[in-house]
Amino acid sequence: MNDIKLALLGSQGAGKSAVLVRFLTRRFIGEYASNANSLYHKRLSIDGRQLNLEVFDPCSQSSEARCILEEPVDWADGFVVVYNISDLTSFINAKNILQQIREARTDNCKGDTDVPVCLVGNKQDLCHARQVQEEEGRCLAQENRCNFQEVSAAESYQDIANLFTQLIRQVMEH
Ligand code: GDP
Repeated sequence: MNDIKLALLGSQGAGKSAVLVRFLTRRFIGEYASNANSLYHKRLSIDGRQLNLEVFDPCSQSSEARCILEEPVDWADGFVVVYNISDLTSFINAKNILQQIREARTDNCKGDTDVPVCLVGNKQDLCHARQVQEEEGRCLAQENRCNFQEVSAAESYQDIANLFTQLIRQVMEH
């Protein structure tokens, strides 16, 4: 497979765009004004294979916004679900999104509930204001049989690069 499609899901303000822009450009974009759905393209090489990566970054989602979720759920080969470790509501929303991904994949003809997913606790640099313990994130990921990583889009590139690379490898093997 040469085309990989990923979707970023999570509460508005969790840092989805910041995480993605950090991966794509190695930079932190402090204020990234996005009020539209965005589709990013990148050519990259992983394990010697040339890939066309497409990443869908919807402008906002809430737990109720199922209609926004349905489109990427059918389209994507893998998902990055982002919450903010200093915002409990965003973690609860991530939990709902993980459940909705499973339900949507079961409901539609794909019947593929083991689609590759990475749960990401962003804003690790705000640990003084932490509302979600790392262990809670890890447990939620285990319950959903997905990867888990805490990151700081503001401060580091490597963890974010690793999580995308791991997810892309899983999609290639899926
Ligand atoms: P989105 O709505 O989920 O795409 O969130 P954004 O990427 O637009 O980020 C929302 C806000 O959080 C912006 O003000 C970012 O600068 C900020 N932000 C994103 N990632 C981090 C991070 O890792 N640490 C801190 N301290 N702020 C972040």
